[in-house]
Amino acid sequence: MPGRVKAPVPVDCAMDHSGRQARLREALQNSKLDFLLVTHPPNLRYLCGFTGSTGILLLGQRSSVFFTDGRYTEQARLEVESARAVISRKPPLAEACARLDAGRRGTSLGIESDHMTVSARSRLRQLLPRGVRLRESAGLVEQGRRVKEAAEIARLRAAVLVGDQLFSRALEVIRPGVTESEVAAELEYAARRAGAEAMSFPTIVAAGTRSALPHGQASSARIPRSGFVVLDFGVILAGYCSDMTRTVYVGRPTRRERSWYEAVREAQGAATRAVRAGRVSGEVDQAARKVLQREGLGHYFTHSTGHGVGLEIHEAPRLASRETEVLRAGMVVTIEPGVYLPGKGGVRIEDMVVVTEGGCEVLTPTGKELITV
Ligand code: ZN
Ligand code: ZN
Repeated sequence: MPGRVKAPVPVDCAMDHSGRQARLREALQNSKLDFLLVTHPPNLRYLCGFTGSTGILLLGQRSSVFFTDGRYTEQARLEVESARAVISRKPPLAEACARLDAGRRGTSLGIESDHMTVSARSRLRQLLPRGVRLRESAGLVEQGRRVKEAAEIARLRAAVLVGDQLFSRALEVIRPGVTESEVAAELEYAARRAGAEAMSFPTIVAAGTRSALPHGQASSARIPRSGFVVLDFGVILAGYCSDMTRTVYVGRPTRRERSWYEAVREAQGAATRAVRAGRVSGEVDQAARKVLQREGLGHYFTHSTGHGVGLEIHEAPRLASRETEVLRAGMVVTIEPGVYLPGKGGVRIEDMVVVTEGGCEVLTPTGKELITV
């Protein structure tokens, strides 16, 4: 069996749903909300363990009720914790509204306005009992998700280890003439065999001049005889995402190409060293940017340095130059500077790290020296 990827030893990770709900109730109180209508699937999973795609959690100061439809009867029974599950014959939204306590005047109901469609919102308005006021409450659950619990870090660590092993599988198939999508296929097949539920985003394999596209999804383009190949990929394991990028060179790089690679590697190291609890996230971005500017490549670094990762591939905090959020121990972020020279090629290197009081722990084990194939 060529390049079989091993699944990591399962980790004991009980999720603290009731603790998360308790923290959210505090946030509700601070925002003067009586209820929050949670509809975004990753937030449902975070708060009560439900992994299906249709459900609603109505969280109040003293109640926590989960609504779904008949397709999820068994799944809700198996998964939902710290909430009463109601299997509704009506659409779950109608059921949730019918049970909304509008006894008091001026009950306020928060909605996840970042994730609700315009038509769902109009439907909700029609269904709401009189006296209930709708309030846009984007990001309330996401705020709590920024700092990971130990059990979440254990899952992220396991996802990173599975993801990391895929890189060596990809290296076995990269050679001139092979298409980018063939490389992605091998990598994704190995991921599924290792137990991944899915890839955390469409795999990026961008070869030759296509490596200058920061989001060059694997295409039918063939790997040329010489040039960079950017591989950016990740898996979902037990709900949690991994994300890593490595750039390899097919053939022999010129001095100039090697200098681009080394500049990105240095920028990635500088940004990693800048991570620490108490630091402003924008400073991490600036640490990477300063190196690339010094090397005359600042202009080609066209995205931010990193992002949070967890149940979703892109979460708070963002590591962008103007961000003022203070990093906290337990946040898990990517560090991924890159340079993209149109018509020539691009380089990106990305690790996942956990913020600690004294700095950070790099989760991604694979080294970062330039590999040529
Ligand atoms: Zn990535
Ligand atoms: Zn990323």
